[in-house]
Amino acid sequence: MTVHFPFQNSYSALPDSFFARVAPTPVAAPRLIKLNRPLAVQLGLDPDVLETPEGAEILAGKTVPAGADPIAMAYAGHQFGQFVPQLGDGRAVLLGEVIDKDGIRRDIQLKGSGPTPFSRRGDGRAALGPVLREYIVSEAMFALGIPTTRSLAAAVTGEHVIRETALPGAVLTRVASSHIRVGTFQFFAVRRDTDAIRRLADHVIARHYPELLGAERPYHALLGGVVARQADLVARWLLVGFIHGVMNTDNSSISGETIDYGPCAFMDAYNPSQVFSSIDEMGRYAYANQPRIALWNLTRLAECLLPLFSEDQEKAVAKAQDILGAFSDTFSDGYQAGLRKKIGLFTERDGDNALIQDLLDAMAKNQADFTLTFRKLGDAAGDPAADDARAQFMDPAAFDEWARRWHERTALEPQTAAERQAAMHAVNPMFIPRNHRVEAVIQAAVNDDDYTPFEEFVKVLAKPFEGQPDYAAYADPPLPEQRVLQTFCGT
Ligand code: AMP
Ligand code: MG
Repeated sequence: MTVHFPFQNSYSALPDSFFARVAPTPVAAPRLIKLNRPLAVQLGLDPDVLETPEGAEILAGKTVPAGADPIAMAYAGHQFGQFVPQLGDGRAVLLGEVIDKDGIRRDIQLKGSGPTPFSRRGDGRAALGPVLREYIVSEAMFALGIPTTRSLAAAVTGEHVIRETALPGAVLTRVASSHIRVGTFQFFAVRRDTDAIRRLADHVIARHYPELLGAERPYHALLGGVVARQADLVARWLLVGFIHGVMNTDNSSISGETIDYGPCAFMDAYNPSQVFSSIDEMGRYAYANQPRIALWNLTRLAECLLPLFSEDQEKAVAKAQDILGAFSDTFSDGYQAGLRKKIGLFTERDGDNALIQDLLDAMAKNQADFTLTFRKLGDAAGDPAADDARAQFMDPAAFDEWARRWHERTALEPQTAAERQAAMHAVNPMFIPRNHRVEAVIQAAVNDDDYTPFEEFVKVLAKPFEGQPDYAAYADPPLPEQRVLQTFCGT
């Protein structure tokens, strides 16, 4: 049996300035610790073959499979608002692209596979902890129905990486509909390479926005398309309590997928100004700031596209502003519609936004758990005696006052209690990758070479909307002493 990847590479056929050709650096003793078998099948790969020693060597970057055209992609980016004209894949190599079972082109990338011409002072490697974190959280996001890159495999390298201490090295095989970022456009814009911007825009339209191919003004339509997808994406993040943590323009995907899971986290108690990332001292990427930051990043994209809009700078800017102006309504529509569903409303009426905002305000004031409040509200919709939602509030009376108005509002709709509960449980997850659980799973793997907790956690998170009574403890918020206050970038 040999490993066959049905590669059909398109990015590496773009001009040389778009990337550097570089192979993964061979590692000492590759060992596959996790293969995402359903995803392998979706990609047209044979999971049994990937699990052989030969497969492990490929997934750890020790051998390059036939048909691969390994490259490190060039990009720039604003990091915490500061522009860096050259970043690029410093520890990742794109092996190539395959067309999946749905006909969608997917990048297969090794992350942590050794230095590249873009590594700057970095070692090109990844530690096991961050690799497991990205695996867990990206696959949880997929199960929650949120656009995201995916994780095909995690492998340990048999080598150590030096961070504050020596840690086991690992490689994540990441799958994305592409790894093109806002920062990819910025790379060419800062070099005033308008031809490259046009080539990149054409590639992106054909690949991610084929419906725009015949548009009268395709580059305007492209910006509009990215604005719409990013607005929708951030609304979805907020609806599950997700905090990306490093929304730099180089971590902002043109396809509208969540990308680069570094110091990300889901909140436990609802707090709009929540920040976890140890490197985000100013709270730039706090939970409630994410829509504003997404628009800021899109504005940087718009600046890159200006030369394609019009020779007349003023006209180009006016058009860009017009297109960016759609962000706010698209975001609010998605966010408010999602919140109405979360509290079990089937229709939209005057006063709904205020009703929802009052709940959120009471949750913030009472340190109510974001996930459990909504999940248990579904139980209360089915059975008014169910009081687990109420129990999330430090002062349960604050909930009672709100619940009275909520019951009045839902009584205006014809759906039965059971119908409402089912609809709410289908949008309010029971299980999210709570940070204290993620940390515990990582500790077991790194300290004890024990992957049983990781396997179980991944299995539970694959069905976030199902009750799974045997695994009920995974739904619990952290005890005070288990609370994780900071997450680390893990580079
Ligand atoms: P990130 O914070 O993972 O989004 O990475 C930001 C930039 O730093 C990207 O250009 C990465 O390729 C680069 N980078 C991060 N970690 C490393 C590393 N260990 N070695 C080389 N480059 C890195
Ligand atoms: Mg990044």
